[in-house]
Amino acid sequence: MSNQAIKSIGVLTSGGDAQGMNAAIRAVVRSAIRLGAEVYAIYEGYQGMVSGGNYIRRMMWDSVGGILQQGGTIIGTARCAEFRTREGRRRAAKNLILNGIDALVIIGGDGSLTGANIIREEWPSLLSELVENGEISSSDAARYPRLSLVGLVGSIDNDMFGTDMTIGADSALHRITEAIDALGSTAASHQRTFVVEVMGRHCGYLALMSAIATGANWVFIPENPPESDNWEEELCETLLTGRGRGRRQSTVIVAEGACDRHGQPITSEYVRQVLEDRLKSEGEDIRTTILGHVQRGGAPSAFDRNLSTILGHAAVHSLFSEAQETEPQVIGIRENDVIRSPLMHCVEKTHSVAEMIEKQQYAEAMRLRGGSFADSVQILNTLMRASAHRNHADHKQLRIAVMHCGAPAPGMNTAVRAAVRLALDEGHTVLGVQNGFTGLIKGDVIEMDWMSVSGWVGRGGAELGTNRHVPEVDQLDAIAAGLDQYDVQALLLIGGWSGYEAAYRLLNHRDAYSAFNIPIICLPASINNNLPGSEYSIGADTALNDIVNYVDKIKQSAVAVRRCFVVEFMGRYCGYLAVMSGLATGAEHVYIHENGLTLKDLSRNIGDLIKRFELNERLGLIIRNEEVDRFYTTEFICSLFEKEGGDLFDVRQAVLGHVQQGGNPSPFDRIQATRMAARCIEYLQQTTDAASQPAVCIGLQSGRLMFTDLAEMPNLVDWQYQRPKSQWWLNRTAIAFEMSIRPSVD
Ligand code: ADP
Repeated sequence: MSNQAIKSIGVLTSGGDAQGMNAAIRAVVRSAIRLGAEVYAIYEGYQGMVSGGNYIRRMMWDSVGGILQQGGTIIGTARCAEFRTREGRRRAAKNLILNGIDALVIIGGDGSLTGANIIREEWPSLLSELVENGEISSSDAARYPRLSLVGLVGSIDNDMFGTDMTIGADSALHRITEAIDALGSTAASHQRTFVVEVMGRHCGYLALMSAIATGANWVFIPENPPESDNWEEELCETLLTGRGRGRRQSTVIVAEGACDRHGQPITSEYVRQVLEDRLKSEGEDIRTTILGHVQRGGAPSAFDRNLSTILGHAAVHSLFSEAQETEPQVIGIRENDVIRSPLMHCVEKTHSVAEMIEKQQYAEAMRLRGGSFADSVQILNTLMRASAHRNHADHKQLRIAVMHCGAPAPGMNTAVRAAVRLALDEGHTVLGVQNGFTGLIKGDVIEMDWMSVSGWVGRGGAELGTNRHVPEVDQLDAIAAGLDQYDVQALLLIGGWSGYEAAYRLLNHRDAYSAFNIPIICLPASINNNLPGSEYSIGADTALNDIVNYVDKIKQSAVAVRRCFVVEFMGRYCGYLAVMSGLATGAEHVYIHENGLTLKDLSRNIGDLIKRFELNERLGLIIRNEEVDRFYTTEFICSLFEKEGGDLFDVRQAVLGHVQQGGNPSPFDRIQATRMAARCIEYLQQTTDAASQPAVCIGLQSGRLMFTDLAEMPNLVDWQYQRPKSQWWLNRTAIAFEMSIRPSVD
């Protein structure tokens, strides 16, 4: 804490609102209080800064209670023309000084951050003018020689440099995906085509990712206009071919800012007109839905709550640690780490993509968006087709078996769909093994075709069937026979811990069975997020969101009574779901097996809880991972707290069972399942000529898709507790605690 000079921090939200802004405000306020600073909310964005008075209010610990799950921003946001003038900024500076504020956390888009940088640069001269005009004293001016500034990007469009994800983008994707899923069922009933317009004036992120997540049939984005000038014809042909092949619904997604190669806007209305003119005679019924502000609405997703909390916390710490002369920074997330980047550099890079689009330099715009954006466009181009390519002379064609092993995880179907279509497109044969290794032994194997996975993109469960059966050594003969019988040349295993264990067993018996000498790839799918080689497994994000929604409801049920909830989650010995949902719901304590649980912990926590309820708190929330401790069961903890709490509060338990394994996959799980499956097929194809056959698992590591040798498993995992030896999210427990336990109690 070198920057002792900071007096008070002001926080404001500005520009378009975004879900998760409240979580960021909460984190800023509570982190500042913890560091001993005063913190003020500046209401209604820059308008509040210019108007002052009651627009600038001191925030206390409780001012931000209960807002984590609320969409929008409780301190309001506005667009303010006055702040664009020097006169307006001078008034704003005066109001900051009157409140003793000399550090700002701005949560907004590029416009808001630019505005903040301008007042920061003008600060000394604005203060001189205020002194000259007699509006502040020279000693006031001397007391606040500089304005410190840090920015967080709140924008549903995910359109800003300096962060892989902006606050609100994931929630917006949830809204869009829910809406298109809902349209899908009505579209399928009537065999309709829906044209859906989504937000994104200069950025196609929401359109592109929602197209992947919903299995849309065409997407228009600003950065990548249709190649051909005859796109209208191609679009109609694709939709008609799909219909001819039995597709019951068609969806075309249009980003607000979509254009053609000549910079002419492609609006949703124009697309509807094109389809109406050319396809009505074919019996097509075309409807348009403009999603509009729904995309900004609703509760923030678990990801947005956690992202905002971590970034808000980091922003305040950055203000305190910043060397005084450094330029202002944007705090963002990159490759799963919090990063700081020069604010104006981020703004300039953001503008340069818009300029590239304006100048019709689309390849450059795509390059600036980064590799995974371009990869996603490529994957989508294949998945959107109605059938596979025909010409594959350039590579060997394989017989690839796809199967599950492990508990069901939302997103398994999405991964199978992508793997099947992308493999078929390359000319491979795909065999779907039903019900895991037991199915393989029994011969439950079917050949998959393009339409056999139709509608699977957002379907929960596992259509191929899955179970936790890890083949015993004496079953390996039968498994080898099964693989031989179907002439399987590569195996893609989409599953959880049991799947990894099974694959490892096959690898270790390669000497005895030539059938196992084929490329084997595991794709992580488990709500527990306990698999090696990947920071995320498919299904964990869905489970997390389901848990968070459930806990939100539990919390609401405690309106009339003072109550402490002890909520038990799945996750086996891995505390991921417990820690991340604790962070996203504001739980006071999270009990996980990794950290253990002692009587001393329980006794300290009950003491905290009593103090908090004495201070008039209405709600307590304790999260307990199912396997944390064999003796300190959920029931035991409830009894203990009930007894000790006396008349102060009552205690209720809630145990979340298998609902966590159900539900339709979240957008993130669908996108990652698709990307991982795509990379697996590509990998299989590249390694067909390798001297020794690979046995690997794919995973996200620092945001990138990487392969890890399965032979490494003993070094990477704790076999007894079925989890990786090193888990990146463990340090999030400390932030969760800092955010939910008031300093007077801890
Ligand atoms: P976003 O922050 O979402 O990009 P805007 O571009 O509308 O949204 O900016 C929000 C507010 O930030 C504006 O209404 C204005 O008050 C302030 N602002 C934006 N650009 C500037 C600028 N160049 N100079 C001063 N203030 C600005």
